[in-house]
Amino acid sequence: MTNYAEVIGHPISHSKSPLIHRFWLNQLGLVGEYQARDILPEHLDDYFRERAADPEWRGCNVTIPHKIAALDHVTDLGDVRSSIGAINTVFRGANGILVGTNTDAGGFYGPIADLPLAGETAVVIGAGGASRAVLFALGQADIGEVVLLARNGLKAAGLLSHFGLKGRVLPLTARLPDSALLVNASPLGMKGQELLEIDLTPLPEHAVVYDLVYAPIETALLKQARARELEVVDGLEMLVGQAAIAFELFFGVAPPDDEENALRELLLR
Ligand code: NAP
Repeated sequence: MTNYAEVIGHPISHSKSPLIHRFWLNQLGLVGEYQARDILPEHLDDYFRERAADPEWRGCNVTIPHKIAALDHVTDLGDVRSSIGAINTVFRGANGILVGTNTDAGGFYGPIADLPLAGETAVVIGAGGASRAVLFALGQADIGEVVLLARNGLKAAGLLSHFGLKGRVLPLTARLPDSALLVNASPLGMKGQELLEIDLTPLPEHAVVYDLVYAPIETALLKQARARELEVVDGLEMLVGQAAIAFELFFGVAPPDDEENALRELLLR
C-alpha cells in the first residue's frame, strides 16, 4: 500500500507543492507519493467521490479555482467557511471523513509568531484570498490595529469588520503609518504584475516587512526594506509553512526542520 496526496487546481503545472512534499517524503524515507492533478471545475465532484473511496489517498492541497467550491465536498470542522471562507487542504479525519481546512493562516503566522505584536499596528496590502488568511491570523495575535491598503475600500472595510479587527482602510497611495509589521498580500511586485510603489520611510527601525509574493523571491519591496536594514520575511517562508502543516495532516508526521536551506535552494532553481 502506497499512501499518496495530491495538489489539485486548474491550471496546476506551476505548483511548487510536489517539489516540497516529495522533498520531505525523501528526507524522512517515507513510502508515499505526492502528485499534481489538473482538475476541471466540472470534474471536482467525481474527483472527491473517487478519492474518498481510495484508502491510499491521504488528502490534497487545493488551489485556484477550487478553494471555495471544495468546501461543498468536505466536513468543515473548524468553521473555515464562515471565517477565511476558502480551504487549501483536505485530509482524512476520524473514521476516514474528508475534512477541509486552511493552512495559509498558520503558514503566514509561523515566521512572525515570536514578534511582540500585541497592541501594535500592522499594515496589510490587498483584500483578496491571501489577505483573508493574514487578517484571520492577525485577529488571533491580539494585534492593536490593522491598516488595510486596498484599491476597493468597501471590500476592505468589510474584511476588517468580518474579522473583528480594529483599524482603518486607506488607498494604496497613502503614506504608511508608524507600524510594527507591513505585509504585502497583493500580487503587486509579482512577475508579470505592476510594481508596488511604496515609501518605507515612515516605518520605525524595529518594523518587519513581510512579502507573500514568492516569484520573484527577492521583490523590490524586500530590497527596499533591506536597504533600510529592516527585518524581512519572504513568500517562500509562508509557502513552506503552509505546506508543512498540510504534510503532517496527510502523512501523520511533521516534516524535518533542519533541511530548510536545501529546500529553499530546490525551490529557487
Ligand atoms: P487575489 O485573491 O486575487 O487577491 C488579490 C488582491 O490584490 C485583491 O484585493 C486585489 O484587489 C488586489 N490587487 C490585484 N491587482 C491589483 C492592482 N494592480 N492594484 C491594486 N490592487 C490589486 O490573490 P491572492 O490569492 O490573495 O494572492 C495575492 C498574492 O499573494 C499573490 O502574489 C500570491 O502568489 C501570494 N500568495 C502567496 C502565498 C504564500 O504561501 N507565500 C499564499 C497565498 C498567496 P481587488 O480586491 O480590488 O480585486
